[in-house]
Amino acid sequence: MADTHFELDALVVGGGIAGLLTLDALHQRGVHAWLIEQTALGHGQTVWSQGIVHGGLKYALGGSVGEAAKAVSAMPDRWRAMLDGDAEPNLSAVTMRAQACAIWSTGSAASMVGLLGAKLTLQSAPEAWPSNSIPQALSGVRGRVLRVAEPVLEPEHLMSVLGAMHHDRMMLGCVSGIDSSDDGTSVRVDTSAGPIDITCRHLCLLSGSGNEALRELAGLTPGRMQTRPLQMVLARGDLPVLNGHCIRGTKPWLTITTVADDSDGRIWQIGGEVAEWGATESSTATIERATAAVATALPSLELSGIEWATYEAPRAERSTDDGGRPDTPAVLEEGCMLTGWPTKMALAPILADDLAGRIRAGAEPTNVPKQYERPTAATPPWREVEQWTSVHSDIPA
Ligand SMILES: Cc1cc2nc3c(=O)[nH]c(=O)nc-3n(C[C@H](O)[C@H](O)[C@H](O)COP(=O)(O)OP(=O)(O)OC[C@H]3O[C@@H](n4cnc5c(N)ncnc54)[C@H](O)[C@@H]3O)c2cc1C
Repeated sequence: MADTHFELDALVVGGGIAGLLTLDALHQRGVHAWLIEQTALGHGQTVWSQGIVHGGLKYALGGSVGEAAKAVSAMPDRWRAMLDGDAEPNLSAVTMRAQACAIWSTGSAASMVGLLGAKLTLQSAPEAWPSNSIPQALSGVRGRVLRVAEPVLEPEHLMSVLGAMHHDRMMLGCVSGIDSSDDGTSVRVDTSAGPIDITCRHLCLLSGSGNEALRELAGLTPGRMQTRPLQMVLARGDLPVLNGHCIRGTKPWLTITTVADDSDGRIWQIGGEVAEWGATESSTATIERATAAVATALPSLELSGIEWATYEAPRAERSTDDGGRPDTPAVLEEGCMLTGWPTKMALAPILADDLAGRIRAGAEPTNVPKQYERPTAATPPWREVEQWTSVHSDIPA
């Protein structure tokens, strides 16, 4: 009979960017660690994100470099080293959406204050975009177009690459019980090949919005997590490539990233303030607001024939006193249980270092037996949209 009991140094629960980079960091240090994913890699946030490796620009637009901007300022260089294959994990196979983001403003005086703040205070300050290569979508923009060295990667492909790298250390399964004792933690996992029990010295809960339910299952203090909702906008059709932020006042009003559509066209994911406001609005109202904003921000763009949709995406984070965004990644260490939220995809390497630094290697690493199913990358939101609409507002906002 196949063995159904396993002993590990560490079990990682959740295969988003936090779980996969932590698994990788543990593996690099010789720690015997496996990862359990319940649905698909990056389901919920990572694959639904815009894939921008932030360097602090959007936190510094007001003119001062706060904790959040400081925490994230080194991340573009750190990710670029991995994306160039010069640091572990080697992510050189990951598809890139762009090497840099554009920044432009709506032309109002308030917008320019935001851009000036960014120029004055950022470590890697935005610079003028060379006039001969300005993205086509920005041709009608009044005022300067800036370029900031924040790479944009394809999150679904990032999950596939990391998933393939750690194929032998992952399984698809559902955690149905967590029992802690002085000797470690025993985790019951239901898999398609039957239930198994895993005893581990450390349990890393890195399940995004799934952390709250896992913490309850483990008897840990509730209420340590918050979710901040977004209603993101999708546009589909004959769209130009555009990755960047339109600034209004001191905030990104629209953050647009581009991916190739399965059928020749392109998809735009649209976030920023428009998606924040959308969290409390209907899909129709959000599309109307977003299309009016796009018409203002990109005056030369032809919107007829473009189809629109929205998707809801809650950001899961450690709770804060005021419900606002935490500045840094968060780890809660409670006995042998570690719960983590990276806060941003860009910050996940810091979280992974932190967690891996708390766990020592013990047992000789072994692979997950072949009979256990492996998780694959989650489906991006635009492939799950049931209905696209061409109804929109092209009245400038
Ligand atoms: C719309 C949107 C856009 C964003 N854009 C950016 C951006 O451009 N740049 C940036 O840096 N950050 C961005 N972020 C933030 C970033 O996506 C998240 O901070 C990051 O992806 C969180 O990673 P994670 O691994 O903690 O969570 P997730 O990516 O949510 O992964 C959690 C994983 O755990 C699994 N899981 C859940 N419950 C269980 C369970 N019980 N057992 C096993 N597995 C479980 C899930 O299926 C999932 O695979 C964005 C977020 C959103 C919502």
